[in-house]
Amino acid sequence: MNSLDPRSLIAMAGFMALVMAVVLGFMRRYYPPNIQGLGYWAWTPITWLATSGLFVLSGTGWLEQIRLVGNAFLIGGFALFHIGCRRFFEEPSAWQRILVCLVCTLLALAWFSWISPSYAIRSALVTVVIIGLHAATFWFLWRHSNRNFPVRMVQVTLLLHMVILSVRLQALFKADAVDDLMVASAVQTFYLGAYVVTVLLLSIGAVLMATDRVRTELEHMATHDALTGTLNRRAILGFCADEHERSVRYGQAFSIMMIDLDHFKSVNDTHGHQHGDRVLVHFAECTRAALRRADRFGRYGGEEFLVLLPNTTADVALPVTERIRAALSAGHALDCQASIGLTHWRGPEDTLDAMLGRADAALYQAKAQGRNKTCIA
Ligand code: GH3
Ligand code: MG
Ligand code: MG
Repeated sequence: MNSLDPRSLIAMAGFMALVMAVVLGFMRRYYPPNIQGLGYWAWTPITWLATSGLFVLSGTGWLEQIRLVGNAFLIGGFALFHIGCRRFFEEPSAWQRILVCLVCTLLALAWFSWISPSYAIRSALVTVVIIGLHAATFWFLWRHSNRNFPVRMVQVTLLLHMVILSVRLQALFKADAVDDLMVASAVQTFYLGAYVVTVLLLSIGAVLMATDRVRTELEHMATHDALTGTLNRRAILGFCADEHERSVRYGQAFSIMMIDLDHFKSVNDTHGHQHGDRVLVHFAECTRAALRRADRFGRYGGEEFLVLLPNTTADVALPVTERIRAALSAGHALDCQASIGLTHWRGPEDTLDAMLGRADAALYQAKAQGRNKTCIA
């Protein structure tokens, strides 16, 4: 196998790091400040850029000592990436622990540079520490994320790099091992090439994770009510339309309930609008707790809410409405009363508009009959 010049490969890694530093720097500046960890991720490629610069500049004699600093930046970059991941998932950074590891590594590197010089031991040390950091990052992501594509990509990158680093670790102690990073060899090409790709993929992974977070947050904002956290009108009606389509296709009935808080205007008038808001939030929490996982709950408007119960007929849904009203009279300071209109899908001729009309009519019937009750249409 032809070997590539190590210095060129290191320079290439530096170029990749520079590009990614610019991208992550812009992201840190323009992405919402509530996304944490971006600062650490933005510094990661800058640290790797410094690593490349220092290694490319290093030479023989005293210039070789520069590599000690270069290695510090190299490990520091992977440490920053790890801390970035922790902060991104809103965990404490644990930087003290990482700093202690870094300082111990540097002391050991200094020992094997000046007191008892050994290229193999120095390289092995750096390699083992990076494998350790990768393993910590991998394990952290495994435990803390929902493993979407960007997280998977970072995990696969870390895993592959760990494998390659392990191969390098073995090669370092073979009889025919080269004893200088800048000497071209197959293993060296493999190791440095993998480093170039890792720099690129981890940075891209950070970009994708942050972008995915922004997308998820925007999607949540577009589909949820800001006060109560329930679905908004458009989203709940969307779910109802989907469920209606499913019923037409498979013939399974679903129910919808329209809930309106009783005398809510007087709650606002008596205790103030902010108290009214708190009552709405409490109502939403009680209702959500009374529903099943598959049920959908949304704010239809003001103090009017809509619940979708898939695969449920009105007689089965009736106890659910009782459960909701019971939860709202459990003795909490924010308890309120609600009237509920309930209906279910009657067959292929039944439209969603007709169902909403019936639920509304049943709701007004409940109001007319004295409120705090459920009527079925
Ligand atoms: P009814 O029993 O007949 O339903 O009487 P009501 O007072 O609940 O009905 P009405 O429609 O007259 O009043 C609804 C009130 O809900 C009026 C409006 O100010 C209040 N409201 C709507 N949205 C919000 C909100 O987000 N926060 C607060 N605090 N009040 C709201
Ligand atoms: Mg009302
Ligand atoms: Mg109303």
